[in-house]
Amino acid sequence: MFDVIIVGSGPAGLTASIYTTRANLKTLIIAGAVWGGQLQLTTLVENYPGFPDGIQGPELMTLMRKQAERFKPEIVEDNVSSIDFSSRPFKVSVGTKTFEGKSVIIATGADSKKIGVPGEKEFAGRGVSYCATCDGAFFKEKDVVVIGGGDTAMEEALFLTHFAKTVTIIHRRDEFKASKIMLDRAKANPKIKFIVNTEVKEVIGDQKVTGVKLFNNKENKENELTIGGVFVAIGHVPNSAVFKGIDVDEQGYVKVHDHYLTNVEGVFVAGDVHDRHYRQAVTAAGYGSSAALEAERWLSSQR
Ligand code: NDP
Repeated sequence: MFDVIIVGSGPAGLTASIYTTRANLKTLIIAGAVWGGQLQLTTLVENYPGFPDGIQGPELMTLMRKQAERFKPEIVEDNVSSIDFSSRPFKVSVGTKTFEGKSVIIATGADSKKIGVPGEKEFAGRGVSYCATCDGAFFKEKDVVVIGGGDTAMEEALFLTHFAKTVTIIHRRDEFKASKIMLDRAKANPKIKFIVNTEVKEVIGDQKVTGVKLFNNKENKENELTIGGVFVAIGHVPNSAVFKGIDVDEQGYVKVHDHYLTNVEGVFVAGDVHDRHYRQAVTAAGYGSSAALEAERWLSSQR
């Protein structure tokens, strides 16, 4: 029987574990088949405090894990197959094994949606990015494109104008999901251009991205654009599908009811699986500590 079962091993999950184990709570981390979350897919991280020269994403995760392991949580490197939240203790199944926990912290994060074209995967971290806040500073004086037509695309494009020479928003339709205010703000920015009714069919490059192949779906025409960076901003998918019985919003983000508590007493949430707004490693780590403190307080109140 565990006091806390943490599902997820990104910054939120590992930080939560550091707090629960140091509070003497018997902790199990279900780390996922691939541990470490989105930072495992990034290169240089310059905005995580404590690393004045920046640090590679996977290295940061390795250090976080080392720090978490120092306080001896149990770690299972596999995905949760199902969780029974109908009664306490909660029963968390991983394949044929079932673990019991008095409380659960959901910290499974979110994944950026991919466009799924040739070159996207190959150039990830070498000109293809999913986070302007994280990577924008690496594109100083470059011509970049942002793919998408929602608020995220507008926000990313506006942020990138602080660094890039030009920012071209490429959208597959000529109507935008983005709110009027965000769209107007992007349109008013002299550095931002729009290409509509156009799909990116391929990301091309050598060592780094050098361009994109485009297809205009109204005119059935193909062409190429020479650019130095591609920001994919077509949305995120929170990893919440396995948590049946937990309230989520229309896009699958876990709803926070009170102080990182979900709709089920004893089940807490931390990180990108509930946070659509910030999506930063440092905020996820902060949410992890908060959820752990709440879990600890709740467990004390139960004794
Ligand atoms: P949205 O779902 O709103 O928009 C996604 C965009 O990406 C759409 O324009 C969509 O095109 C396009 N898209 C989706 N899949 C593909 C694909 N495979 N290829 C090309 N284009 C694709 O997601 P967002 O992340 O923009 O926003 C999510 C939520 O977060 C929204 O509610 C938004 O308002 C909110 N948000 C608010 C912000 C703010 O207020 N500052 C900032 C960021 C987000 P199509 O339109 O054709 O479907």
